[in-house]
Amino acid sequence: MIGEPSAVTNEIVHEVSQVLPAEKPRYLMGCGFPEDIIEAVAHGIDLFDCVLPTRNGRTGTAFTSRGKVIVKASRYATDRAPLDRNCDCYTCRNFSRAYLRHLFNTGEALAGRLVSFHNLYFYTQLMSEIRMNIRKGTYAEFSARTRRRFDFRTP
Ligand SMILES: [Zn+2]
Repeated sequence: MIGEPSAVTNEIVHEVSQVLPAEKPRYLMGCGFPEDIIEAVAHGIDLFDCVLPTRNGRTGTAFTSRGKVIVKASRYATDRAPLDRNCDCYTCRNFSRAYLRHLFNTGEALAGRLVSFHNLYFYTQLMSEIRMNIRKGTYAEFSARTRRRFDFRTP
């Protein structure tokens, strides 16, 4: 939910999930940080929508398998690596962090589109992993392992 600290949101999601019918899809609006999605899925939430992947993409923040990458940071000025070495999206296969940073610094709209594309791909992959682990019965292990890896809230 938009605006509340994640601990409050998680508590409310937990409470509400106990009274919602289990056979109906459950939708949570405005929940966008990967670690919050993983927690909400554990409480039975099925559907999400949030501006975070594209809003952050437009402003130069990428969600990656190793955490957040702020593309405009000066440390990426000569970095020839992709946004995420573990990602095979169009952006990561074709553009370096340094080039994306250059696009942001010169005001090219393409910069935000490329990072948004990567972020949407990242979320699509995350949801695929979530579904796969639910089917395999390994969601608890996946959740613990993945949430330890992610900390997208830290500025
Ligand atoms: Zn990518």
